[in-house]
Amino acid sequence: MGRRSRDSQGAGRVSASDRPIGDATRLVSAGRRAEWTHSAEGGGIVNPPVWRASTILYDSVQHLRDAAGRDTHHRLFYGRKGTPTQWSLADALTSLEPGAEGTFLYGSGVAAIAAALLSVLSPGDELLLPDSAYDPTRGMAMGLLKRFGIATRFYDPLVGAGIADLIGDTTRAILMESPGSLSFEVQDVPAIVAAAKARGVTTLLDNTWATPLFFPAIARGVDLTILACTKYVVGHSDAMLGSVTAGPGHFKALRDTSFQLGQVASPDDCWLGSRGLRTMGVRLKQHQASALQIAQWLKTRPEVAQVLHPALPDCPGHDIFVRDFKGSSGLFSFVLNGGDNGARAALIDTLELFGIGYSWGGFESLALPVDPQRHRSVTDRAFAGPMVRLQIGLEDPDDLIADLERGLAAYRG
Ligand SMILES: *Cc1c(COP(=O)(O)O)cnc(C)c1O
Repeated sequence: MGRRSRDSQGAGRVSASDRPIGDATRLVSAGRRAEWTHSAEGGGIVNPPVWRASTILYDSVQHLRDAAGRDTHHRLFYGRKGTPTQWSLADALTSLEPGAEGTFLYGSGVAAIAAALLSVLSPGDELLLPDSAYDPTRGMAMGLLKRFGIATRFYDPLVGAGIADLIGDTTRAILMESPGSLSFEVQDVPAIVAAAKARGVTTLLDNTWATPLFFPAIARGVDLTILACTKYVVGHSDAMLGSVTAGPGHFKALRDTSFQLGQVASPDDCWLGSRGLRTMGVRLKQHQASALQIAQWLKTRPEVAQVLHPALPDCPGHDIFVRDFKGSSGLFSFVLNGGDNGARAALIDTLELFGIGYSWGGFESLALPVDPQRHRSVTDRAFAGPMVRLQIGLEDPDDLIADLERGLAAYRG
C-alpha cells in the first residue's frame, strides 16, 4: 500500500498485514485523504486545510446539470453541502466508531442533539429521556419537541433492563447520556440497547464524556452517537462544534434531516476540530490520570462526603463503568459534607487555577457550583451538602490539589 493511501479508509487498516491499527495511530491518520491534502505536483499538506466556500463554479451548463443529478456526498456542489474540511473531520470521527455508516457535523453539540432526535421522531411519537440529561436537552424535549407533538417520558438513568417496562406503543426513541450530567450516573447501555432492539426502538447516546476512545458506542449497538465536539475534540475552549455518528441504516435519515434543517458547520471550526482531534488521545490520557489523582485525594478529605467520579465506587453505576468503559475523562463532581451555598461559593471563589465557567474539555481547569436536583423530575437523590463540578485540565495535578486545599480551607471558614 502506497504512502498516499494512508488515510482513514479501509476500516482502519493501514498496511497489507491486515493488523488493526490502534486508536492513537487512527487519531493521527484519520481523514487525511490524498484528494483533500495533496497538490497536483505531488506531496501535500499534513492536515486538510480550511476550504471556505459558498458558490462552487461549474465549467458549463452541462457540468452544472450533471452535478445536480449526482449524490453530493464528498463532492463539491454548494457550500452548504460542505467542503473537504468538513468531510475530513466527519470521516475521521466515523473511523473512530467501528461499524459506523457516517457522521454529520453541526455548529454546536445542542444542534447535533436536535438533528439526531428530529431524524428519528415524528408527531405522535414518544421519546424516553434520562432524568440526568444535559439540561438544554431536557429544554429541547419540553420546548421544541413538545410543540411539534412529540411527547417525552423521563426515566431513572439507573433503570437498566427495566427500561423494557417503560417502552410503550408510541415509543420511538430512547436517548441515553452516560455518565449523566452533573451527577454522573453510569447507564447500562447494553441492557437498554437490547430492550430497545427487541421493540424496534431507536437508541441515541450523548457520548461526550467518554468519546469513542473510552466507549465505542456504535460497536456496542447504539444507533446514533452524539458528541459535543466543543469539549474534547476541539479541546482548547475556542470553538463550538457537534457531531452525530450513525450506525447501520441510520445515516441517510440523519443526513437528509440535517440538510433539510440547513445545518452546516463552519469550515474554520471544523479545522479547529480536526487539529484538536490529532492530540485528543494524549490529552485524554492526562485528563484521566490527573482527574483520578484529584478525585482520590478529595475522597480522603473530611470536608468531602462523596466523590461522583465513574471510576470511584461512590458513583452510582460504578460497576457498569468497570464492565463497559475503556477509561475515564476529566470531568466529575464532589459533594461537600454539609455546609451551605455560601460556603461552597467561598471554596470556588478562593481557587486561583480553576476558572469559573460553563463547558469543559479544554486544556484549563474549571470549577462550577451545580445543583442537579433543580433539573430532575422523576428521581430524587439526596446529597449530604452542596455539589461542585470540576473539569480537570492539563496543569500539574499537584498544583491543582494545593489550590483545592486552599479552597477547602475557605469552605471550612
Ligand atoms: C456541553 C454539552 C452538550 C452541548 O454542547 P454545546 O457544544 O455546548 O452545544 C451536550 N451534551 C453534553 C453532555 C455536554 O456536556
